[in-house]
Amino acid sequence: MANIVWHTKLRIHLDLNLEDLGHAEHPGLWDMVYDMDKLYAARGVPVAERDLLCGGVCQEQGVEAPMHLRLRSNGRREAVHERREDEDRHVVPVSDEHKAYQERILRAAQEAGFDGDSEVRTRVGRSWIQTDTLIEGSDGLRIGWEVQLSSAGTDGPRSVRARAAKAQKNGITPAWHTDRTAYADRHDTHWTRSNNLPAYVIAQTGDLRVISGFRRLDFWQCDIHAVHPCPNGVRRCNKAHATPTPKDVLFDDLVRQTAAGTIVPIEFRTPTKLHRFWVTHADRNRYSDLLSDDTHLPPANEEAAPPASKASRNRPTCRQPGPAATAPTPVAAGPQTGFLPTQSAAPSVEAVPSELSVSPSPTPVHAGLPAKLISLQQTADAAHARLRELTDPDERREQRRKWFSAAAAAQTAVTDYARTKRLNRHEVERELRRLVRHL
Ligand SMILES: [Zn+2]
Ligand SMILES: [Zn+2]
Repeated sequence: MANIVWHTKLRIHLDLNLEDLGHAEHPGLWDMVYDMDKLYAARGVPVAERDLLCGGVCQEQGVEAPMHLRLRSNGRREAVHERREDEDRHVVPVSDEHKAYQERILRAAQEAGFDGDSEVRTRVGRSWIQTDTLIEGSDGLRIGWEVQLSSAGTDGPRSVRARAAKAQKNGITPAWHTDRTAYADRHDTHWTRSNNLPAYVIAQTGDLRVISGFRRLDFWQCDIHAVHPCPNGVRRCNKAHATPTPKDVLFDDLVRQTAAGTIVPIEFRTPTKLHRFWVTHADRNRYSDLLSDDTHLPPANEEAAPPASKASRNRPTCRQPGPAATAPTPVAAGPQTGFLPTQSAAPSVEAVPSELSVSPSPTPVHAGLPAKLISLQQTADAAHARLRELTDPDERREQRRKWFSAAAAAQTAVTDYARTKRLNRHEVERELRRLVRHL
């Protein structure tokens, strides 16, 4: 089954999920198309000649897959492939690794206060864009993550350039991630790559490194002191040039900083090739300066340390209420689905607000965990519980922000405590959640 049909005569997509098939301008479209299909069937017209093709996966892959329509007794409208092999094209099993990546992207983004969702379909005109995981970043920035793992086959995804360009044109910054070198070297979009890892590792909260796709730009003057050869010839041209060098970044930071707009995609042209990769916002600005005037080095604008987005966005602005003030002790409302903030952006450098840092001599309360941790976790849980009660979108947005804030504070405190006490962070967290549930 598929839900998108391409009508070859009318030259429009019909989205069977929508009452009006996505064409409010043509009332009664479904009845017309469906009755026609029924009539064709009654007259023995072969499916392949009935003007209806799969407009989803099959079309994306350049396959003309004939379909016929069906109306279920429950009123559900369906389009059915004529051929079994076309149907199979739609049942691409989402691998565990792929799911783990989607969850990790959402979690990393949410830790920094960014909303997101997986398998998002964005309508653009008469067509749509399907995104693996879409993150709503700062200032209307939308990052469309596409994860393509080695399990997807050696040929890799097709029409990447077209899909990426379409997303870009419609306000979604495409971010394609893979664990396969061959994809990452294609330069048809801004690929990033990590090692080939099993799902359980991706799902964990430890460091997940991006080993290619993020670079630093070195700006230099092409004179006798220069280390690099002149990209334009054998002689020194005395102009300014930029040279990209590989740079490490953690996957979670990449997710957050792309959402924050501090890591951005760039198209970098050499005499022979157009390269696509990610750089800091500051590097891209300098590169634009260089392109507009390469007679001297572009000024190094405030290349401050790239902000740990989590620290800047999520830092609580007021003191956390003590345990007494957190009135609704959150009942263990099921598993903490969807949000498990467990990795600090950059624990070693991140400044922890003083009111949140664990005091050097914590008062043991439960199984050696300090009261402060428990109170922070309770605050976070209460904020989560409150969120579930709200229905108004604005109130929910505000409450979600509070929840992220509180959860991030609890997570940071757990990280610090585990480090100070040389404990396994994961176990501290589990023990803390267990305790809070039973209070
Ligand atoms: Zn199809
Ligand atoms: Zn030169």
